[in-house]
Amino acid sequence: SEISSFLLPGDRSKAGQLAIVSLARDDFAAINLDNSTGAVDGYAEGAVLNTRFGSFPHSTLLNVPWGSQVRASTVDTGSRGRKRRLDATDDDTPAASQDEIEKSDKQAPAKKAVVASSGFVYLLRPSPELWTSSLPHRTQVVYTPDYSYVLQRIQARPGTRIIEAGAGSGSFTHASVRAVWNGNPVSDEDVKGKVFSFEYDEIRYHKMKEEIKEHSLNSMVHITHRDVYRDGFNVDGKSPKATAIFLDLPAPWKALHHLSRQRVTADEQSGSDDGREWVSPLDPNQSVHICTFSPCIEQVSRTVTELRKLGWINVSMVEISNKKFNVSRERVGIDLPNDRGNTQSPADVTEAIAKLQKVSKRSQEFHKLQAQQNAKNGVSSEMEIDTPETTSKNPSPPRELEKQWLSGKLVTRPEADLKTHTSYLVFAVLPREWSEEQEAAALAKWPCGE
Ligand code: SAM
Repeated sequence: SEISSFLLPGDRSKAGQLAIVSLARDDFAAINLDNSTGAVDGYAEGAVLNTRFGSFPHSTLLNVPWGSQVRASTVDTGSRGRKRRLDATDDDTPAASQDEIEKSDKQAPAKKAVVASSGFVYLLRPSPELWTSSLPHRTQVVYTPDYSYVLQRIQARPGTRIIEAGAGSGSFTHASVRAVWNGNPVSDEDVKGKVFSFEYDEIRYHKMKEEIKEHSLNSMVHITHRDVYRDGFNVDGKSPKATAIFLDLPAPWKALHHLSRQRVTADEQSGSDDGREWVSPLDPNQSVHICTFSPCIEQVSRTVTELRKLGWINVSMVEISNKKFNVSRERVGIDLPNDRGNTQSPADVTEAIAKLQKVSKRSQEFHKLQAQQNAKNGVSSEMEIDTPETTSKNPSPPRELEKQWLSGKLVTRPEADLKTHTSYLVFAVLPREWSEEQEAAALAKWPCGE
C-alpha cells in the first residue's frame, strides 16, 4: 500500500498528497493537493487555494520541491473574484453581501481585469509538527514540546506497539506513528510499529478514521470507537501486545485496571465480561512504559494512587514549561533581502557592496598577515586566503554579501514568559511478567551461585 507522505514525502509535491502551506511564521494551512483539470468549486482552473496573500491554483503547487516559495497567480476578477468576496473566510476583508456584489458587478461590467498579486507562500512537506499547527481542532490537543518528551520517555521507537486514548484531534497520533515506524515500506505489519488508538466520541472517531485514511496511515494506525474505561484496549478480542501507552483522558485512573498483566476488577466500574477469556493488552515479554496527561493535580493524585496499587514502579511526574528562543543574526551594516523577499534599491545595494569590499579588504590583510606569521613560526595555515589578486580576478559581490552576513553575531531572544500550563505528565513502568517457570528455566540455562 501507499506510504504516507508523513513518513516518506519524496522530494516534490504530488497530487493526492497532503501539503502544508506556510502563510506566515505561525500561520499554516493544510491542503490536499488536487490535480483535477475540470472546474472545481466554481474555479475553471481546478482547485484553488485562496489566502490573504493571493490565489494559488493547485496546479501551481504540484511537482515543486518541498520548501519552495510559490508566487500567487495573476487572477482575473471574474466569477472567482466574486466567489472570494462572497465567502471571504480566509481573507482579511469582510465578506460582502450578495446585493453589494451584484451592484458593484453592474457598475464595473465584466472587464477581464487582471490582478497581479505580489504575495507568496511556502509549500512544506507534511510533518507531525506542522500537522499539529494546522489541524482542525476538535478537542484540546497535545503540542510538540509535550509529545516529543512523552514519546522518548515511553520509549516509542521503530517497531513499538503503542496504545493511545483518546484520539481526540489526532495530534499525538501523528507524532507517535512517525516515532514507531521502522522506516521499511515493505516490512511485515507486526514489526513495522503500530498505534492502537481509541476514541469514545462517535463524530471524532469517524473524523479521525477519515483523516488517517486520507493520510495513508491505515496500515500504521488502528482506531477503535470505544469507551476504554468500560471495555479496555484489546482489538477484536486480541491483545495489541503494547509496550508503550499514552492516556489523554479525563479520568485515566478509570482505565488502568485494563492495563495489567492479570485480570483486575475495577473499583468504580466492573469491566465488561463478554464470557471470553481475559487477555492482557500488554506485551508479556517486555516492560511497559505509560504516560498519562492531566491538567489538574487532583487527577494526578488519583492516577498515581491507582498506578501504585496495580504494581507500576518508577512513578514520577513532569510538567513541561515551554519557552521559545528566537535565533537570528545581527545585521552588520548591510541590508539583504528580508524574509518576505523584498530587496534594497539598486543604489543601496551598490553602496552596501562598496562597504563590504572595504571590510573584506581589511579582513584579507589580517588573514594574510596571520598566514605570514604562521609560516614564520612553522605553523601550517589551513585557511585558504583570498588575496586582492584573486578577488580582483574573480570579484563576487553576492558571495561577499553572504560572508558579511555570516560575520553577524548569532543572537537569541527568549520569549518573556513561559507558556501557560498545559498538563502534568505522569510516568510509570510495569516490569515484564516473570513466572516461577521462567525463573527455573533461566536458572537452568545460566546457573549462578551454585
Ligand atoms: N491527545 C489528543 C490529541 O492530541 O489530539 C486529544 C485528546 S482529547 C483531550 C480527549 C479525548 O478523549 C476526547 O476526544 C474524548 O472524546 C476522549 N475520551 C474521553 N473519555 C473517553 C473514554 N472513556 N474512552 C475513549 N475516549 C474517551
